[in-house]
Amino acid sequence: MIIFDLSCNTAHRFEGYFQSTDAFDAQLAKGLISCPSCGSLEIRRVPSAVHLTHPARPPRAAPSPASVVMADSGGELLNTYRKLMAAIMANSEDVGTKFASEARKIHYLEAPERSIHGQASEKEFKSLREEGIEVLRLPVIKKENLN
Ligand SMILES: [Zn+2]
Repeated sequence: MIIFDLSCNTAHRFEGYFQSTDAFDAQLAKGLISCPSCGSLEIRRVPSAVHLTHPARPPRAAPSPASVVMADSGGELLNTYRKLMAAIMANSEDVGTKFASEARKIHYLEAPERSIHGQASEKEFKSLREEGIEVLRLPVIKKENLN
């Protein structure tokens, strides 16, 4: 099933659901598609607004956040986490407080794709997730402990 954005000759916009492009063409040729507003049979396909504003990637569903409880047996897990954090920091660009705007630019392909880290407020983080941008919030461990 595919959805086409359609317009009649007086520019009424509506959506039509079809099995395929061929099915749409066949129904259009037989005069089976009419404008729900004025009944006009002069229907044409129009580019979808969704495709115009998001040419790059379809929005991705945000993964549900995972919670971890660390039962600290001799600090082993915490050390592993510190090493992981250090690796993440070393392999991503520090964009500081510009994190939210950089993450957005990368998502909408206005900036080169790369890993970044930085600071974001709770509000910024939430709105990034709502836009389908994959961001992670990590507990911060003081830099002097990262080694
Ligand atoms: Zn119409």
